[in-house]
This record gives sequence, structure tokens and C-alpha cells, in this order.
Amino acid sequence: MLSELHEELRRSVRDFVAKEVLPIADVLDREEKDIPDEIIKKMAELGYFGLVFPGESGGVDLDHLALAVVSEELSRGWLSVGSVLTRNLITGMLIQAHGTEEQKRRYLPGIASGELLTAAAFTEPDAGSDTAAIRTRARREGDRYLISGPKTWCTFANRAQILTVLARTDPDPAKRHKGLSLFLVEKESGDAFDPPRIAGEPIPTVGYHGMHCFTLGFQDCAVPAENLIGGTENKGFYQLMVAYESARIQTAARAVGVAQGAFDLALKYSQERQQFGQQICNFQAIRHKLADMATEIQAGRQLTYYAATMKDTGRRCDLEAGMAKLFAADMVERVASEALQIHGGYGYSKEYSIQRYWRDARLFRVFEGTSEIQREVIGKRLIEG
Ligand SMILES: Cc1cc2nc3c(=O)[nH]c(=O)nc-3n(C[C@H](O)[C@H](O)[C@H](O)COP(=O)(O)OP(=O)(O)OC[C@H]3O[C@@H](n4cnc5c(N)ncnc54)[C@H](O)[C@@H]3O)c2cc1C
Repeated sequence: MLSELHEELRRSVRDFVAKEVLPIADVLDREEKDIPDEIIKKMAELGYFGLVFPGESGGVDLDHLALAVVSEELSRGWLSVGSVLTRNLITGMLIQAHGTEEQKRRYLPGIASGELLTAAAFTEPDAGSDTAAIRTRARREGDRYLISGPKTWCTFANRAQILTVLARTDPDPAKRHKGLSLFLVEKESGDAFDPPRIAGEPIPTVGYHGMHCFTLGFQDCAVPAENLIGGTENKGFYQLMVAYESARIQTAARAVGVAQGAFDLALKYSQERQQFGQQICNFQAIRHKLADMATEIQAGRQLTYYAATMKDTGRRCDLEAGMAKLFAADMVERVASEALQIHGGYGYSKEYSIQRYWRDARLFRVFEGTSEIQREVIGKRLIEG
């Protein structure tokens, strides 16, 4: 059961989505245009970026359960809007848990208030699931580092003012994850990037159209030494673990939201569409689909809220957050596919919103750790403890 505060928060986000997001989501998705700045600004004013950060750091001092509720409701309208929060969550958690006092003072208020947007540059063309294979190099030169190498799939890199970059500080690739560090790389917001220091090219995608993903090229990109997160080299891989707990909870919540949005459309359509002289929801085949979909969504939601509650009570929850993300990622694909099925041929038309949910739903098994990798991580934790 959610508290009245969390229920009230849900109602207010639902209002925001109905007024600000739903009227533009299909149009912008079709035109493959970024979420407008005004929406991000309003989300910042409503405190959505700061839900898990303390008041003294510019946050609103709520909790991961609130983050889950807000992310779910935003994604129920449009996955891209629910996803604006993800990168600030990751970078903010990294700084809060591992940053130096100066990094906390300098960056956390802007990240928690949404005035600063960040992006995560971890993945490389040859290092996706195998993070330890990262080759982008950060070489110390006096009081700065020079970063060189390729990154890919960096979501919203154009809009970000800070790129959180995972790079190799130990030149020996055999050191694997023990030689990686995280850097806060400042840049101007905008599509131009700053080549050759930082070059960026958008990647065409089948969905997730409100935020673009970029391949990035760093060439002797100078970063002040004080922007190494935590100030000590070769800790980056371990630092990411705390942030991943929060990120997986938020991603699971986004999947629940997309699934609920797809379900809402399917239920409504099934009550409107008539075949054989009656509403199609009267057919047992359709009713049972709706029953299975609603049951699966509720299961995903409860796993997510459970992981969030564990996080909020200070317990380790990598296993629970991983399970929530894994289940919700598989679930949303099934639910969105059945929701499209209930729309029949119209579901396959770009005139109907359901195809947007279906395309966005497919992403969850791929990003933030593929489902295959999630199973590996969960399985190993169960066996090894
Ligand atoms: C839209 C989108 C947005 C993204 N945003 C970001 C972002 O902002 N920042 C960022 O850094 N990255 C981002 N990513 C990258 C994402 O995290 C990676 O795509 C993901 O980690 C998988 O890596 P890969 O694509 O290289 O696939 P690969 O690692 O090459 O995997 C290919 C296939 O092999 C399987 N596989 C690989 N290794 C194993 C194994 N050991 N056991 C079993 N199966 C295995 C995988 O599960 C997958 O099915 C994004 C990706 C997408 C598509």
C-alpha cells in the first residue's frame, strides 16, 4: 500500500502528463523530435529530478518509492519523458555516494534541481555488456586528464551539460574493471558538440524518439583532475554499483508505466470496437488477455515497489532491483504486444498511439543491462551469495 503522500504525488504527475505530455507525444514521436525544453523545465520546477536527493543538495528529500511512482506515471504517457530523469539519477547518485566534497558542492544542486542535465557515456562500440573491456583512455597530464576514444549509445548527449564518462586510467587492458575511472566532463548543451575535443553523431532508432542517442568521439578532451569522481583512480566500476541499484528501480518503474499506458489504450479500444455486433471486450479471448496483462503489470509494479522500499530502508537491493528490472522488461514487451493485438490492424497503423508504446517497450530488454546479462547477474548472486 502506498502512503497518501505517494498517492497524491501519483495524481499530480498524472495531471501533468494529461496536460503537458499526451497532447504532444505522438506528434513528436512521429517527427522524431526531442522533448521540448519547456517540459523539462516544468519537470524541474515540480521537483522530479530531486526526488531521492536531500534538501541541502537541492533535492526534495523524498524517496525511491516516490521516484518509482513518478517515473511510472511519466512513462505511462511517454517513455522518453520518464527517461529524462534517469541520467541525472545515475550521475547524482554517483556524486552523492562517491564524490569529493567539492564535486558535491559544485554539481549536486544543479543535478538534483534539473538545472543541469547529464548523460552517461559508458558503452563503447566494442564494449557493451562487457563493461570491463572499455578502452577509452584517460591519461593524466599535470593537473588534468586527456580523454581519447569512442563511445556509443550516449542518450541525450546533445542536451547534457555534463557527460559522465567511464574511461581507462590504467593502460593495461588486462586489468579489466580494476583499471576504470569515472569523469565529469563539462560541455555546452546543443547539437553542435565540440569537435575534435568531443564529436557527436545521432543514431537513428526505431523508438525512444523524444531523446536521441549519440556515438561520441573524444580526442585529447582535457578534463580538470578534480573532475575524477571521488578523486582516486580505478574505482569507477565499483562506484557504478550503487548508482545501478537506483537506476534499475527507475527503469523497472518506467517499464511498468509503459505497460500500464499500453493496457489503458487496449482496454479503452476493446470497449469501443464492435465486431459480430458487440464490443470486442465481450469476447473471452480478449477479456483473458486483459486479465493476464493487468496481472503481469501488477506483479512488475510490486517487485519494483519492493526494491524501492528496500533501498529506502538502507538495505542492499541489487538482487531485488535486478529482478524487478528483468521481470518488468520482459513483461512490458508481452503486454505491449498484446495491447497492439487487441487493436487488430489499426494497432499497426501510425494513426494509433499503441504502436509507439510497442516500439518503446522493445527497448527494455536491451538497455540498462540486457535481460541475458540480468539473468547472469541474478543467477550468480543466488549461487555465490
Ligand atoms: C536506445 C538505447 C539507449 C542507450 N543509452 C545508453 C546510455 O545513455 N549510456 C550508455 O552508456 N549506454 C546506453 N545504451 C547501451 C546499452 O546499455 C547497451 O546496448 C547494452 O549494454 C548492450 O550492449 P551491446 O549493445 O553492445 O550488446 P552486446 O553486449 O554486444 O550483446 C549482444 C547480445 O549478446 C548477449 N550477450 C552478451 N554477453 C553475454 C553473456 N555473457 N551471456 C549471455 N548473453 C550475452 C546480449 O544479452 C545481447 O543479446 C543504450 C542502448 C540503447 C539501445
